[in-house]
Amino acid sequence: MLLELTNITKQYESVDASGGAEGATVLRKVNLQVEAGESLSIVGPSGSGKSTLLHIIGTLDTPTSGTVVLDGQDLTQLDDEATAAVRNQQIGFIFQAHHLLPQCSVLENVLVPALVTGTADARTDRAKKLLDRVGLSHRLTHRPAQLSGGEQQRVAVVRALINEPKLLLADEPTGALDKASAENLTQLLLELNNEEGVTLIAVTHALSLARQMGRALLLDDGRLVDATTNP
Ligand code: ADP
Ligand code: MG
Repeated sequence: MLLELTNITKQYESVDASGGAEGATVLRKVNLQVEAGESLSIVGPSGSGKSTLLHIIGTLDTPTSGTVVLDGQDLTQLDDEATAAVRNQQIGFIFQAHHLLPQCSVLENVLVPALVTGTADARTDRAKKLLDRVGLSHRLTHRPAQLSGGEQQRVAVVRALINEPKLLLADEPTGALDKASAENLTQLLLELNNEEGVTLIAVTHALSLARQMGRALLLDDGRLVDATTNP
C-alpha cells in the first residue's frame, strides 16, 4: 500500500454575516487506499472538495481529523521540516496553471525541485531525457512564454517528476488546454505512470480524462465513492 487515507474530515471555519462562527464541512470521513503504480481519477462538480482532498494528500493542507499515511509514514504527524522534505522528494504536483518561472529557461524550470535538494547537477541528465521523452528536446533554452499551453504543461509534468516522486498529484491538469492538447496530456500522464512507475492521482471534472484512469472515484457530498463500476 502506497497511500492510505483514514477518516479524513475537513471543516473550514468561517464567520457568518452576524459574526458567528460557521463551519463548512467539505470532506466527511473520507477513506482511500492506493497501491503503488495505480492511476486513479477523482471526479466531482466544482466546489465538491476535490482540490481540498488533493491538497491534504499532498501536505499542502491539513485535515481537521484523520490520517494520511504515505509509504508507511503518517504525514499528519510530521513537523514542518519533515513535511517539506516529503513534499519535495516524494510528491510531484501539476496544477491547472503551470506556475513556471517566466525568467527561467525550460531546463532551469524543471530543475527547480532538484535545486532545493542540492541534486540539480546529478539530475540534469534525467531532466534532458524526460524533456526529450515529452517531445521538448528542442525547447531546452526557451522561456515558458515562448511555448504553447500544451508545451508549458509538459514542462510542468517533467518538473513534477524530476525528483522521482512516488506520487504524482494532478489538479485539473488539462483544464486550461484545448481538446487535442488535453487528450495528449492525459495520454502522456498515463504513459509516464507506466514508464516511471509513479502512482497517479488526477482530479478532474472531465469525464473523458477520468475514464482513462485505472480507477475513478466520485466526490459526492463530502464522501468518496467508487465510480468505476457505476460511472
Ligand atoms: P473543487 O476543487 O472540487 O472545486 P475545493 O476543494 O476547491 O473544490 O472547495 C471545496 C469547498 O471548500 C468549496 O465550497 C470552497 O468554497 C471551500 N473552500 C475551499 N478552500 C477554502 C478556504 N481556504 N476557506 C474556506 N472555504 C474554502
Ligand atoms: Mg479544484
